[in-house]
Amino acid sequence: MYPNANLFISGRWRPAQGGEVGPVFNPATEEEIGTFAIASIGDLEEAVSAASSSFAGWRALGPLERSGILRKASALVRERAGAIATIMTAEQGKPLAEAEREVLNSADIVEWFAEEGRRTYGRVIPARTPNVVQTVFREPLGVVAGFSPWNFPIAQAARKIGAALSAGCPIILKGPEDTPSCCAEFVRAFADAGVPAGVVSLVFGVPNDISDFLIAHPAIRKISFTGSTAVGKMLAAKAGAQMKRCTMELGGHAPAIVCDDADFDRAVKTLAMAKFRNAGQVCIAPTRFLVQRGVYDRFLDAFIESAKSIRVGDGSNETTTMGPLAHGRRMEAMEELVADGTRTGGEIHLGGKRVGNKGHFFAPTVISGLGKEARLMNEEPFGPLALFAPFTEIEEVIEEANRLPYGLATYAFTGSSSAAHKLSSGIETGMMTINHHGMSLPELPHGGVKDSGYGSEGGAEALEGYMTFKFVTHAMT
Ligand code: NAD
Repeated sequence: MYPNANLFISGRWRPAQGGEVGPVFNPATEEEIGTFAIASIGDLEEAVSAASSSFAGWRALGPLERSGILRKASALVRERAGAIATIMTAEQGKPLAEAEREVLNSADIVEWFAEEGRRTYGRVIPARTPNVVQTVFREPLGVVAGFSPWNFPIAQAARKIGAALSAGCPIILKGPEDTPSCCAEFVRAFADAGVPAGVVSLVFGVPNDISDFLIAHPAIRKISFTGSTAVGKMLAAKAGAQMKRCTMELGGHAPAIVCDDADFDRAVKTLAMAKFRNAGQVCIAPTRFLVQRGVYDRFLDAFIESAKSIRVGDGSNETTTMGPLAHGRRMEAMEELVADGTRTGGEIHLGGKRVGNKGHFFAPTVISGLGKEARLMNEEPFGPLALFAPFTEIEEVIEEANRLPYGLATYAFTGSSSAAHKLSSGIETGMMTINHHGMSLPELPHGGVKDSGYGSEGGAEALEGYMTFKFVTHAMT
């Protein structure tokens, strides 16, 4: 049974004031499975007012008690993981096992922030004058507006809610309209754990109407957005006009660099897994496979073999290892990008087209020979497309990695510490993983540079984004 997604405002689950709803589809069947409530301006006003009223109390509760409530929410998420994952698969498409892993990871994220929130210390700075005490206090910023996407409908919400609440900030989350109910069930765990009314609100609706209203509202002090670079730039500009802090986790086009001296099998296995997880709809997914000429042909063949073993299907089927794309917009994008790739000389080694004629299934795809002008070599595919190109020298591959305005994640495989050092110091990237897949854990910073955004969605750095400092100097009398 699919639960329709309501709004959560002032500690109450309820439909939108005007009763307006939008449809939710199962991407594996294209059937309408339920609805989400579309918030009106009146709903948003109530959410802001409830969040503002809750701020003083949530802040005064202090880190220890806040931590206790968050730990309880995390435990409830773990307890309910099976049920939440089933909803996620029905509306997002990913295989059930992946959905369950995401729910459990999200519980870890919340638990980690619950603990880290207890360590937001200030500083005492020795004064130049006797009897003067100089102190730096860390204080919560205030009410946050969070915008979380559909690709990881719970994990991205967990990063925002976990960081905001542990820092002492109430949050109004605009959840993803394509995958609203698993996000609502995640928020339910906070409500059931005893988070006071107004501290967490969940809304859905017309994204632009909601962001316009919330960003402009004087009570909102911070914006946290995860999504495309185009939308991120627009929201950051609006926030800038209002002098509001932002965390922006945007698009990527990750280079996956494989050198001649890499551990070959490990590189194939790790990168194939990372590429096709969540059907490639991952901001940190490896995209440009830049392989040194000595192993290029062999690596391409081995990667294709590995991709062939992927079983595409309905995520609720136990044998499925890659589900459908989350919605029709991604199918159109894949078809356009592949058509442009073949027009500009790309060779399709595998896939390149939809699978079947019902459901948003797109085949794992491997393409080589794309010119630098091909759209695929410049735009984030956000789907199961692996683009291959050879390189000769390390300097050349660093130049290619840095060619794009993106700078989110980078993968490298090499047996040489000197090459690894050249790559890690030369590439403009927010995150780099060398010889394994080691990103996205709760305690690690998670964010990009250049057009991939700024700020962090993980680690102690994430918490920084929800706090401000206050300097007080006091001459003792
Ligand atoms: P999109 O850019 O329209 O939407 C992406 C997300 O932003 C959605 O959750 C959407 O609700 C939200 N959004 C869109 N316009 C908004 C607005 N004006 N105000 C507030 N929120 C808004 O694209 P899409 O078709 O949903 O997804 C495709 C693209 O989004 C991909 O190419 C990818 O680059 C990007 N994306 C990135 C991530 C990520 O993890 N960084 C996640 C999802 C989507």
